[in-house]
Amino acid sequence: MIPFLNLGAAYRELKPEIDTAVARVLDSGWYILGPEVERFEAEWAEYCGASHAVGVANGLDALILALRALEVGAGDEVIVPSNTYIATWLAVSAVGAIPVPVEPDPATHNIDPAQISAAITPRTKVLLPVHLYGQPVDLDPILALARAHGLAVVEDAAQAHGARYKGRRIGAHGDIVCWSFYPGKNLGALGDGGAITTNRADLADKVRLLRNYGSRQKYLNEVQGMNSRLDPVQAAILRVKLAHLDDWTGRRREIAAAYRAGLAHTDLILPHVPDWAEPAWHLFVVRSAGRDALQARMTAAGIGTLIHYPIPPHMQQAYGEAAFLPDDFPIARQLAGEVLSLPIGPQFDRDGQKAVMAALCMTNP
Ligand SMILES: *Cc1c(COP(=O)(O)O)cnc(C)c1O
Repeated sequence: MIPFLNLGAAYRELKPEIDTAVARVLDSGWYILGPEVERFEAEWAEYCGASHAVGVANGLDALILALRALEVGAGDEVIVPSNTYIATWLAVSAVGAIPVPVEPDPATHNIDPAQISAAITPRTKVLLPVHLYGQPVDLDPILALARAHGLAVVEDAAQAHGARYKGRRIGAHGDIVCWSFYPGKNLGALGDGGAITTNRADLADKVRLLRNYGSRQKYLNEVQGMNSRLDPVQAAILRVKLAHLDDWTGRRREIAAAYRAGLAHTDLILPHVPDWAEPAWHLFVVRSAGRDALQARMTAAGIGTLIHYPIPPHMQQAYGEAAFLPDDFPIARQLAGEVLSLPIGPQFDRDGQKAVMAALCMTNP
């Protein structure tokens, strides 16, 4: 049996270091924010090439806090990809704004910059691209559009830890960049976690305030904030894992290269990587018109695969009130029916990958 992802193996690889870090926090007697969170924030900002990082409770909150810091609210519109994890849309809805979907370029699965301007209205406040599957979005045309229309750019980088766009790490191209440290992400905690990074001191300060009850000084509340703080135990674990992130991304890159070489002769559509992109390879996603049958055969062969994502947000019951039709976003709908994520991860070994490719080649001659 080959699991889609082996989180236990990732923990075991770093167990002595992680256990020491957890014990350090427990022994410290300091359990909310504090020095461990501050150290992780400094290290994460530095890694991302950003002036500031602020740790929060999870990736969804990072997006919500970013939008709140930009004062996005009722009646405002935010441009989002039609094919993303629903969290991107939910953050927009949570602040009372309206998600305005734009279709992806089917070659990259990322929002198509050429289709964004047609979706901009006088109510548009923010462009919210997602670096889906760890493939960096083509940011330059998006940043240019934002400048031309006076809009902010919030990046959903929940899948893009360590990815580079034109040689520079994702982390400070847009106004605010939002991160998730959900256990399965490339930099994953052993529980929930998230952060924002930014070069703008004003926005970092607002998120810092909003994540902690709107309070800088205990019992003095400047704004109506929330409780969305990064747990110091998770911060200590993230500091251990951050030191290994580039090594682990390198292993993902080797696996992706082996898949691309080994599956080139099949009829699967493989990921397209523009020459300016250095993906983080959070997921290795292939496309097949016969996806469901292919997944069933992989399951029968004992190989775990997943679908990211089977139902696009506009077709979810959660957005039933918005009265979208399934074919309002035909590319998102088609991709949802054809994508299949193959096993990939730092602890996925060569023998496992050979077995996956053998099964794929048998089912896809
Ligand atoms: C994981 C993810 C999120 C949400 O992160 P959580 O930490 O689970 O809240 C948001 N956007 C994308 C694209 C994600 O993959």
